[in-house]
Amino acid sequence: MSEGTGPGAVAATSAAAGAVASAAAGASRGGSDASTDDGAYRLAELLRKSERAVVLTGAGVSVPSGIPDFRSPGTGLWANVDPMEVATIDAFRHDPDRFWRFYGDRFASLYDREPNPAHHAIAELERRGLVRGVITQNVDRLHRRAGSRRLVEIHGSIEWSICLRCRGRIGLERVLELLQEGDGPPTCESCLEPLKPDVVLFGEILPRAPMEEAFALASEADLMLCVGSSLEVFPVASLPAVTRDAGGRLAIVTQSSTPYDGDAAVRLSGDVVSELERVVSELR
Ligand code: ZN
Repeated sequence: MSEGTGPGAVAATSAAAGAVASAAAGASRGGSDASTDDGAYRLAELLRKSERAVVLTGAGVSVPSGIPDFRSPGTGLWANVDPMEVATIDAFRHDPDRFWRFYGDRFASLYDREPNPAHHAIAELERRGLVRGVITQNVDRLHRRAGSRRLVEIHGSIEWSICLRCRGRIGLERVLELLQEGDGPPTCESCLEPLKPDVVLFGEILPRAPMEEAFALASEADLMLCVGSSLEVFPVASLPAVTRDAGGRLAIVTQSSTPYDGDAAVRLSGDVVSELERVVSELR
């Protein structure tokens, strides 16, 4: 399986940088950029013609909801903390109290965020029967809250926190209440073990069922629409190759370059909200 990390990926990245530069030049002229509009039209056509399209999303789809991509340096909550040090399964096991002092803030910061028009556009594509489902690496629940129904959360979700001993779980609101009571980490109501957020921490193996569903959707897809991801980090990085190698097409809507830009039938480089709104309006 190609993960797009060879020398070819470097060439594709340079080409994408050019595309971003020309899109920016178009925007600076003040008018609507004809090639971008055309791209939205072509993506709408691809969606109309496809029968088994799937959407793959990354952190970029949630940035307009005020959730910074934690991989961007110096942003928000993560500015003074190295997530590779704190958000790990080892950190959780060794010092759940410290882990939850950090993670509690993260939960609280995500709790009241609202889906943005990009989430709503993706949910609308599913409602109209134009996509079969959504695969996301985001843990923020925003696709579900926007109405996406077949949602594969490959990094889990903040919706639940789980007990690693008995698999019991409690919901986000109760976890936040327990954290506010300030009595150490939230614990399992049966066995009093510290609960772990049901998200994939650094050092943890990805859960099997969502990964299998993601790979099945990708291998069956005749179109994969990738939104808001630089497609560089496993497992998201490997999924477009699954679709491409099975004969499906790729469409990419993201501002950063990706290793798959050279493979994409449509490549939109504007911001995810305006690009997806344009695509949905082309479908009306
Ligand atoms: Zn338990």
